[in-house]
Amino acid sequence: MAARIIDGKAVAATVRERVAREVASHEAEAGRAPALATVIVGDDPASEIYVRNKHRACAEVGMRSVHHGLPAETTENELLELVAELGLHDDVDGILVQLPLPERIDPDRVLAAIDPGKDVDGLTPANAGLLAHGTPGLVPCTPAGAMELLRHEGVELEGAEAVVVGRSKLVGVPVARLLLAADATVTVCHSRSRDLAAVCRRADVLVAAVGVPRLLGADAVKPGAVVIDVGMNRTDDGLCGDVDFDAAVEVAAAITPVPGGVGPMTIAMLLVNTLKAARSRV
Ligand code: NAP
Repeated sequence: MAARIIDGKAVAATVRERVAREVASHEAEAGRAPALATVIVGDDPASEIYVRNKHRACAEVGMRSVHHGLPAETTENELLELVAELGLHDDVDGILVQLPLPERIDPDRVLAAIDPGKDVDGLTPANAGLLAHGTPGLVPCTPAGAMELLRHEGVELEGAEAVVVGRSKLVGVPVARLLLAADATVTVCHSRSRDLAAVCRRADVLVAAVGVPRLLGADAVKPGAVVIDVGMNRTDDGLCGDVDFDAAVEVAAAITPVPGGVGPMTIAMLLVNTLKAARSRV
């Protein structure tokens, strides 16, 4: 029997509706709506689209947002100054520096300069440390979105075998930490892992965050597994995930499609984080 398709768009819409209600009550209490500040250096068209979508999503839930578009020749120090200024700004609850930055600028230095309480992408060393410590602060949006999908699907994580493919700071590692915090038994695979398919086949919950189109086929999926495909790969035949969807859908119990699975959750969780950041500053 083909797997249940996990509808990320529908779950994201539910999250946004909840955030919109909570933004209204926060505004009534605090006297102002939460505000997100975004920063782009240069004119990367993809970054412009991502950031525009984030502003639209803020407006839809009643949040304010302000954009800082800096010229491509901005220096690292100038960017650090802006990030510090936003950190001190009373009217800004969340700061998002859109990656990638121009090569001259060290993203790690810039991320480390963001006030951890306003780090709505959850990428500062402070928030990564809190997550590693088991006392999460602001959690990276895509991993948080993957967990929200599992929660929404009612997947039992306690004692479950979870395999995460990918160990990036952005997705793989935080999702592994969140699964561990939910009492799953977690294995993390990466480019040097041996016999990837055999390890993945142990998983009750398989999370793919690799960036290689259709890397994981039916032989990597345990019958009855729940598959969360974070991959977003542009190919000649359109956008696809890291899992071979057509093959895996015949084996898994539930699976996220690409597009329409994890993708829509990322912005929804950015809204959740911005609201959380605003609440913690009242
Ligand atoms: P990344 O930083 O490039 O990390 C990729 C990870 O995959 C690395 O840990 C790498 O291992 C591992 N890997 C690469 N090739 C492998 C292979 N053949 N077998 C096993 N592991 C392999 O990527 P990322 O930022 O985590 O993103 C991963 C994917 O998620 C991408 O497709 C990206 O577009 C997508 N993504 C989607 C969203 C969303 O909103 N849906 C958000 C973020 C990312 P090593 O560490 O050994 O190099």
